[in-house]
Amino acid sequence: MMKQQPLVSLKEIKKHFPVGSGLFGKKDQFVKAVDGVSLDIYPGETVGLVGESGCGKSTTGRMVVGLTNPTGGEIYFEGKKLREYKAKKTLGKNLQMIFQDPYSSLNPRMTVADIIAEPLVLHKVGTAKERRKRVDELLERVGLASYHGSRYPLEFSGGQRQRLGIARALALQPKLIVCDEPVSALDVSIQAQILNLLKEIQEDMGLSYLFIAHGIQAVKHISDKIAVMYLGKIIEYTNKEELFANPRHPYTKALLSAVPHPNPKMRNRERIILKGDLPSPANPPAGCSFHTRCPVAMEQCKSIDPNLLPTSEQSLTACLLFEEKVAN
Ligand code: SF4
Repeated sequence: MMKQQPLVSLKEIKKHFPVGSGLFGKKDQFVKAVDGVSLDIYPGETVGLVGESGCGKSTTGRMVVGLTNPTGGEIYFEGKKLREYKAKKTLGKNLQMIFQDPYSSLNPRMTVADIIAEPLVLHKVGTAKERRKRVDELLERVGLASYHGSRYPLEFSGGQRQRLGIARALALQPKLIVCDEPVSALDVSIQAQILNLLKEIQEDMGLSYLFIAHGIQAVKHISDKIAVMYLGKIIEYTNKEELFANPRHPYTKALLSAVPHPNPKMRNRERIILKGDLPSPANPPAGCSFHTRCPVAMEQCKSIDPNLLPTSEQSLTACLLFEEKVAN
């Protein structure tokens, strides 16, 4: 059987920002916001990307849709380099993004119909009449009504505004949407509605999502695979079932220990409290970048940076506990 081609493939992508500038700037120092991330997203699947604020997950998402360029590595879309599509301006339709704050991402002075139709206008899709029809279809698809088109974003609740953001992202029938914390600003009851809507749309249209969140619980419902990021790197990558049943990396274990267990008998399990804050990506710790907070750190973790290696058929983990050179 022929192996399916990933829709999007990240190969060792990096985003390093120079620290300071000018005469006294430290030109040889960099903030390594993203530092060698590789993952594949297949048609119709959802990859969850989780980690604390500042770990590089949103920067990764912005690189995937071409909003910012990597400083190293390569991103492929349907087997071709993303930057080649960008040079020919043929990418915009296929990759879209939904943002955390639907209020600031929707122009308050435009009507809802104009906001949703804007990508169609920019890409010269259809006549004015056809675009109006498409806007009505999209409003209905996200659970709103045609008459909402003449209103302004201010007149909508947070959940409704996120529905508008989704309608706009769907306008050009993309193949992948990067969802950057799309529910974290919403009430819990509304979060479930938006997640269900995204799932329904995925089933209808067969599109893929890169779903970014800081809480591991937020990606559980929607993801097929989950990548856990720490200081610009993926430290664990596996399918959802495996991650929740058998987390390997000490950081993933700590994140999961904070999630209430569905089984009441398991609710008394030990909570792993991490020491300190996420270190600055401008000055990451030597060796394993997690060693300053890791509850099971060993002496060699201070000097050896672990590789992301297979730890089961589906799982990759970056931890010296799993590297043979330490075990032997
Ligand atoms: Fe902890 Fe060491 Fe594994 Fe890093 S390599 S996660 S410090 S045990």
